[in-house]
Amino acid sequence: MNATLSLVVAGGDLRQTHLCRLLLKDGHKVSVFGLERHTFPRGIDVVTNIGEACKKADAVILPMPVTQDDSTLNGPLSNAPRKLEAIAQAIPPGKMVLCGALSEKVRTMFLAYGITPVDYLNREELALLNAIPTCEGAIQIAMEELPVTIHGLNVLVSGSGRLGKCISQKLAALCADVTVSARKEKDFALLYSKGLKYIDTAQLESAVPQFDLIINTIPSKLYTRSVLSKLREECLLIDLASKPGGVDLKSAQDLGIKVIWALSLPGKVAPVTSAEAIKKVIYNVLKEGGGKCGKA
Ligand code: NAP
Repeated sequence: MNATLSLVVAGGDLRQTHLCRLLLKDGHKVSVFGLERHTFPRGIDVVTNIGEACKKADAVILPMPVTQDDSTLNGPLSNAPRKLEAIAQAIPPGKMVLCGALSEKVRTMFLAYGITPVDYLNREELALLNAIPTCEGAIQIAMEELPVTIHGLNVLVSGSGRLGKCISQKLAALCADVTVSARKEKDFALLYSKGLKYIDTAQLESAVPQFDLIINTIPSKLYTRSVLSKLREECLLIDLASKPGGVDLKSAQDLGIKVIWALSLPGKVAPVTSAEAIKKVIYNVLKEGGGKCGKA
């Protein structure tokens, strides 16, 4: 499908600005709001009245996350804070609104204005695509922080979900000695089939002393004071889990353990790739919603 869409992109970081360029390149009409601190190429319409722009739009694309405080639009490239409620009020009811990491509170607020927002971060394909820059970013951090090569390093990846699977494969390709923690028999079998070592996550405490690098992907605070106290002094712990994270940071500090809590890596290490991924997902959502769509 190659139809021309009219799209409003509001708020966000470099991922959204790259997204605007990609959408323009695909032939869509793009209006931007709340991104004043970025200079856009010719062809992108910078608007100050989002309500007017939305009237003619096929869809409104809000950032990921849509807000940091449940109240204002996430707008690091904006000149002023913008109330999300004012934006919801300005968008005509029934309009297709896409946004990332929607809280229940914000969803309810949009619903009150007759808008059913779609959270594109809930899409499995985006989570899988985001795992790639996240894992590359984590390896980049490890390379920068460690005085030794990844090759031959004893690495523990805790968790064998999307991130765990992706990063263990990449580390193994760099000839690290990789062990992955999991808790399901099917994951043990899958890890075995890939030639990776594995442990049961329940055995974390007894296993951690043997590793030089630990990458945590489990979104639960399993790195307690007790577990952390077993880590080698020189072990680097990179936590990829979203808030509230997987590590007791206070205990790590007390114990002198180096922890890097590396959040939002896709946008930091590869904003263009991230924007490509968001674009793909947005096209998928629009296609499924019966909307017209550009080349994905
Ligand atoms: P996922 O596919 O759901 O994988 C999570 C893994 O953690 C699974 O192996 C799961 O085991 C395990 N797990 C969850 N709770 C556990 C517990 N209480 N005890 C033991 N194991 C547990 O998630 P993901 O996509 O890999 O993402 C992992 C985390 O990274 C999330 O917090 C996500 O938001 C975050 N993230 C961060 C970045 C970044 O830039 N830092 C980027 C993307 C995602 P089961 O499968 O057995 O349940």
